[in-house]
Amino acid sequence: MGTVEARGLRKAFGEVQALDGVDLDVPDGAFFVVLGPSGAGKTTTLRALAGLERLDAGSVHLDGRDATADTPADRDLAMVFQSYALYPRKTAYENIASPLRARRSSSSDIEAAVQQVAGLLHIERLLQRKPAQMSGGEMQRVALARALVRRPRAFLMDEPLTNLDLKLRVEMRTELTRIHRSLGGTFVYVTNDQVEALSMADQVAVLREGRVQQVGTPAEVYERPANRWVAGFVGSPRISLLACHARGEELVGDQGWTLPRPRWATAEDGRPLLLGLRAEDLSLEQRGPAVLPGELYGLEPLGDRTVVDVRVGTEMLKVKARPSVAGALGQRLQVTVDLDRAHLFDAGTGNALP
Ligand code: ATP
Repeated sequence: MGTVEARGLRKAFGEVQALDGVDLDVPDGAFFVVLGPSGAGKTTTLRALAGLERLDAGSVHLDGRDATADTPADRDLAMVFQSYALYPRKTAYENIASPLRARRSSSSDIEAAVQQVAGLLHIERLLQRKPAQMSGGEMQRVALARALVRRPRAFLMDEPLTNLDLKLRVEMRTELTRIHRSLGGTFVYVTNDQVEALSMADQVAVLREGRVQQVGTPAEVYERPANRWVAGFVGSPRISLLACHARGEELVGDQGWTLPRPRWATAEDGRPLLLGLRAEDLSLEQRGPAVLPGELYGLEPLGDRTVVDVRVGTEMLKVKARPSVAGALGQRLQVTVDLDRAHLFDAGTGNALP
């Protein structure tokens, strides 16, 4: 078992309300990602789960039992930080073995456990080296191995890939999901990188200013964002938001455009809305009756595609186009909209329309 639940976590540092009522339900065996921008309260949440933070209010349940008063050691959770926190004078082998030595496991059990986890992380050849003789990526693997060797109730990982270069980061993402699959166990993984979150998680909790905005699978968070903020934070390029309102059979933009009103748009006429359009749901090819007029503002070639910035009045659309797309700045363009995939948010509350 390895369920982790948080109820109403609250924590202030002076004026800063770092956690403002955080609820989390991490199922046994999940790869659960807490995603949010810098300062959202991710580390504080993880530290609260680990018992390293004195809370103002709230409770933590592990395997269904109230663990709020338990010491970090009693909680049996393994923490992996972005700084590797290895013992500098010990070899990788001794670093990995250290949690088992603390438990007074036998030498043969330790040997077997270290070799197994070293094999899983492909670090057999590093075992006799000290941290100073390893690259950042290698140290990160050793730090992971040290956490994994313990078989704790759950793993808490705080942006463990942050210090790695891009290539290694991408490699380690795949590696971590593979390890999760082969080892089992519950992972609670904190990151501000939405690509990391979407690619690794079974479930994502999106955190902002100490509050959970939405919990769901990566697909749910991407395709049905609960509010305009989640829509803007998840997805690259960023979702475009256009101010508008419904009027009869139409959506009327503040910038003067009209689009057919989607069947699912239930808002009453005149209520201020934001139309959310993702770059892949917009096209410069003529594909249907839903068209926005604009002008070419910029081109961002990204190899396999080009993101085209199109100005619609004073608002901006990001459109995914073929890599070969070209045009002169200021040139008039028609952008076809896939309205079935569009999002509508209440302009006042920011919440998605049901
Ligand atoms: P990052 O991605 O930058 O690590 P985060 O989402 O992990 O950010 P936290 O580290 O949890 O955010 O911090 C949440 C808020 O609480 C921030 O405004 C931070 O400055 C503040 N904070 C965190 N720890 C302390 C502390 N010990 N003393 C004072 N303020 C703190």
